[in-house]
Amino acid sequence: MKVAVVGAGIIGVTTAYELAALGHEVMAYERAGVVAAQASFANAGAVVPGYVAPWAAPGMPWGLLQQIVRRDAPVRLGGAGALVELPWMWRWWRACRPRVYAANRRALQDLAQFSRDRLLELTRTLHLEYEQRPGFVVLLRRERDLKSARAGLAVLRERGVPHEVVDGARCRQIEPGLNPEMPLHAAIHLPQDGVGNCRHFAHLLKAEAQKLGTRFRFDTPVAAVTPGTRPTLTTQRGACEAFDAVVVCAGAQAHDLLHGLGLRLPLAAIHGYSVTAPLRHFDSLVPVGPHAALIDERYQVTISRLGQRVRVSGCAEIGGRLDHQAAAPLRALYRVLDDWFPGVALAREAQHWKGARPMLPDGTPVLGESGAPGVWLNLGHGANGWALACGSARALAERISGRTAPIDLSRLTLARLR
Ligand SMILES: Cc1cc2nc3c(=O)[nH]c(=O)nc-3n(C[C@H](O)[C@H](O)[C@H](O)COP(=O)(O)OP(=O)(O)OC[C@H]3O[C@@H](n4cnc5c(N)ncnc54)[C@H](O)[C@@H]3O)c2cc1C
Repeated sequence: MKVAVVGAGIIGVTTAYELAALGHEVMAYERAGVVAAQASFANAGAVVPGYVAPWAAPGMPWGLLQQIVRRDAPVRLGGAGALVELPWMWRWWRACRPRVYAANRRALQDLAQFSRDRLLELTRTLHLEYEQRPGFVVLLRRERDLKSARAGLAVLRERGVPHEVVDGARCRQIEPGLNPEMPLHAAIHLPQDGVGNCRHFAHLLKAEAQKLGTRFRFDTPVAAVTPGTRPTLTTQRGACEAFDAVVVCAGAQAHDLLHGLGLRLPLAAIHGYSVTAPLRHFDSLVPVGPHAALIDERYQVTISRLGQRVRVSGCAEIGGRLDHQAAAPLRALYRVLDDWFPGVALAREAQHWKGARPMLPDGTPVLGESGAPGVWLNLGHGANGWALACGSARALAERISGRTAPIDLSRLTLARLR
């Protein structure tokens, strides 16, 4: 089949690769000049199938209300723009009900597990190096953080995910660079989860897709997709081409294309921030910076090692603007980094970034038919797009090829949002 992929973030690149690997003729269209230029550019890099959970969970609405007044809150409203997201927030609130959450979490973890396996397989067979490192630690500053992690721990046990609840001393053996003066009540260590550079991986996989014949059209925004037995795609410059199938992987900017197809997907851009800085070289034998990746559960800030750099990222801003970087979330990132790894980053060389997580109200993606003939969706991976990319792409490519998907996708179709 001749297949078009719209968008070349991590979701589009993996989709293009998997389609090409299954023997299709693939053309990928990207608005930007390179792959991974938007949400996939400088994310935290965490691939944590053991810990992945929908961004709509019981207790979150109350937590949001409590935090909203705090300047360093992990969740913030981006000014008056947040009002536009009220219908989305209503649906999000409803998805936080325990029964809905439990079903979504299972679906997400199955996909994440499959995705990690596919990522490891690609890494091994294609000999890919993308600053990957094994190990993920959840830092629980207070007894209260451990208490709220209990439900998540029960899921880990139920699913047989290797993990260990450790005290502060043991945690410092796993992550020897942690500040010894920082009080730490407990931690959860997930040895099979880890970190890797998402953007780097996207560039490597793009090259592999090209080897399989995929063509990438950069600086080519797609203006419209017309469904049909031979769906057509029209670029902003007016060029028109017919395909056997079109896959929309346009992330948080998919709205216009979807409207043209008569689809109103409740897709919100939940903004986040990251700071990336080179690690300082100390003249000592003490390891500098994180070994792999950690999350500070209280502030929902992730600290990752990417080669000789440290990346700290977090904040979920509802309704803000991508081109406006607020000072408070960036300050919170520096403060959390300084709590756990004081002085390790060369701050004067730091790069600040803001990205838009493409988020559906129940926090799980849409994979499958769009309802418009010939048009497929791989969208809305929210806070976990890197962790879910390889599995989503493989499962969808199998479906497009007329095969049975390797995992149950029934909870991830469009039907649930209607
Ligand atoms: C601060 C932060 C930290 C994160 N940390 C993690 C993490 O640790 N682990 C994890 O798994 N996930 C993480 N995420 C989430 C992850 O980054 C996203 O889920 C993922 O990047 C989404 O990928 P995507 O390909 O759907 O979107 P994008 O990367 O945004 O790609 C969409 C692409 O489509 C293109 N496009 C849009 N419209 C058109 C059009 N009309 N024509 C042509 N091209 C078009 C865009 O230019 C863009 O390149 C994080 C996100 C943020 C913001």
